[in-house]
Amino acid sequence: MERSNRRLEDENRQKSDFLATMSHELRTPLSSIIAFTDIWEKSHAGDDSAERRLVEEIKQNSTTLLNMVNNTIDAAKLEAGSLRVQCSDVDLVDVVEVVFSVAEPLAIKEGIRLTRTVDPEIPFLRTDAEAVRKIAMNLVSNALKYTGPGGAVDVEAYSAANSQAAVLRVSDTGCGIRREDFETIFQKFDRPSRGDEPPAGGSGLGLYLVKSLTEKLGGTVSVESEVGKGSVFTVQLPLQCPPDEDEGGEGR
Ligand code: ADP
Repeated sequence: MERSNRRLEDENRQKSDFLATMSHELRTPLSSIIAFTDIWEKSHAGDDSAERRLVEEIKQNSTTLLNMVNNTIDAAKLEAGSLRVQCSDVDLVDVVEVVFSVAEPLAIKEGIRLTRTVDPEIPFLRTDAEAVRKIAMNLVSNALKYTGPGGAVDVEAYSAANSQAAVLRVSDTGCGIRREDFETIFQKFDRPSRGDEPPAGGSGLGLYLVKSLTEKLGGTVSVESEVGKGSVFTVQLPLQCPPDEDEGGEGR
């Protein structure tokens, strides 16, 4: 029994390693495609030709693909217990700014009003900057993905009432989520059907990562939503993230 358990664990780890290696190999050419489109855009500033729109399309699709690859790598690392938390002083104002600059071109293209409301007095967090960026990026990407043209997405960051936590809130006026799906959407690969709507692109890893990373940082995530009206995702992060449980874990 013990031997077969160990074999299963080994196989699982090998699968995660394979996934992580493959994803890394995909990341390099994708990053280079995005870098070339950046160079093209810079050298054709002011150009409004059909060619420019084509290059924008290549860039946006490559960015979406790169996000999916990054999510796959992170999910594989979480499974293998090798995703480490690296604490530093994090300013949520900067995180929201970075996410906003990536998401804004997509919002403009889709005809969605993207706004941010950030309390400049929000205290610095002692947490993992990259994990917070991924949490925010996945929530904002989803909000844009599930909100149609003419809709609105707002990103808020503020101190919790007890001042012991910071809150990141992403709200949208999109298709909304059924109450019975509130819990399952945070599970890996769960993608509830959306009635007559065609399925949106994605792999069902985004919210799983949002929840796993938030919990790794000692926080909580919740959702409120009404079908046809929109959704609000609220992430509460403590000012200081807890020590990494996986740190020094045997065989990891
Ligand atoms: P993906 O978007 O790749 O399907 P996620 O894990 O990010 O995977 O989301 C899981 C599911 O939750 C989505 O398939 C969608 O049905 C629902 N969902 C997530 N965010 C939103 C949102 N902002 N509005 C409506 N539905 C959402």
